[in-house]
Amino acid sequence: MTGIELEQAAALITGALAPLGTQTLPVPDALGYTLDADVTAPLDQPPFDRSPLDGYALRAADIASASRERPVRLRVVETVYAGGVPLLPLTAGAAARIMTGAMLPAGCDCVLRQEDTDQGDPVVSIYKPLRPYENYVNLGEDYRSGTVLLPAGTRLDAAAVGLLSSAGVCQVPVRRRPRVFVLSTGDEVVYPHVHPLPPGKIYGSNLNLLLARLSELGIPETGGEHAGDDPQAVAEAMERLLGCCDALITTGGVSVGDKDIFHQALPLLGAETVFWRLNVKPGTPALYSTRRGKPILSLSGNPFAAAATFELLARPMLCALSGEERLLPQRRSARLDTAFSKASPCRRFLRGRWQDGRVSLPEGHSSGQLASLVGCNCLVDLPAGTGPLEPGRLVEVLLL
Ligand code: AMP
Ligand code: MG
Repeated sequence: MTGIELEQAAALITGALAPLGTQTLPVPDALGYTLDADVTAPLDQPPFDRSPLDGYALRAADIASASRERPVRLRVVETVYAGGVPLLPLTAGAAARIMTGAMLPAGCDCVLRQEDTDQGDPVVSIYKPLRPYENYVNLGEDYRSGTVLLPAGTRLDAAAVGLLSSAGVCQVPVRRRPRVFVLSTGDEVVYPHVHPLPPGKIYGSNLNLLLARLSELGIPETGGEHAGDDPQAVAEAMERLLGCCDALITTGGVSVGDKDIFHQALPLLGAETVFWRLNVKPGTPALYSTRRGKPILSLSGNPFAAAATFELLARPMLCALSGEERLLPQRRSARLDTAFSKASPCRRFLRGRWQDGRVSLPEGHSSGQLASLVGCNCLVDLPAGTGPLEPGRLVEVLLL
């Protein structure tokens, strides 16, 4: 049986999925999420005319002739601190001592910094004239009430979180991210709490690797477990996990061996197979099914194959469920720094290290090897029919 092309597989996955909708999150927790609706300002910012410095609120007309040689003397009628409210409107010949961030008294039209005065009290000598509205911060100078602060589709960064907070917005509607569970399978696989490692067994890496990858991609609600190679037990575990997630990713058991039990487990579960096998190495036996519309992506158990097909298939799936385009890997051209001696009759993805338009390949390409994946940040996409590669060759990479 031959497989399908990667793009066709991704389209089969994404074509039948819709974004999960909106979720309301407290503002600090919404960092990195995408707004699902415009957020308008509920107030003017700043909410009152205020002083940008420590000095004296006064009337420009009163100090037009001021100089160090001939200071103008004004009565200091009150002191206004940040957080306080001026008690009196300012009349001709008067000044209010004022601190940065404090509300300006009515009647003043500028603020002189205290360094240009003698800081006298109750009469202050002014050494410098100002133009009207010099050092005067107007109500609404940052934004006005009712304006769109952040449009739908904005990905919230630290500045956006700060902006929302400045407007007193506590909660925002964001695109809901999927809850994704991972089920690893295999009778040979044990997890690191089992010591010593029994003969014939290996420590499982896929579950933690994929959960870590989901976490790196900002998918917060995840969970996972391991099952052996019993189809009934696997079907039961899948049933249980599907009850509390939006998408299930499994590893192992999808090839053609006697213990490739997903071919039995999926019918037991009542899942419908959408495709099995890709024209891609590694990860050829990838299998995709759905149960009552919920996606189940079943990847090869080989750790690099699982990691690579996660990037190729799970990320489009996560993008379709969340509506967040950022979840798709970016494609770039790059010059190869390293030779690769094998021909690629089938489309092949290699792990690589990309930097500034160049990509180097580590030693150790087999799909069971993980050590060489550490520090890699891209997959090199070699089309079917590519021959051995020399350094300097232009290739396409997917950034992870
Ligand atoms: P499978 O896809 O079940 O045929 O497994 C392919 C290879 O991946 C075998 O060598 C398995 O032992 C190995 N493998 C399967 N699951 C895991 C796992 N969770 N962690 C590490 N290796 C695994
Ligand atoms: Mg297996």
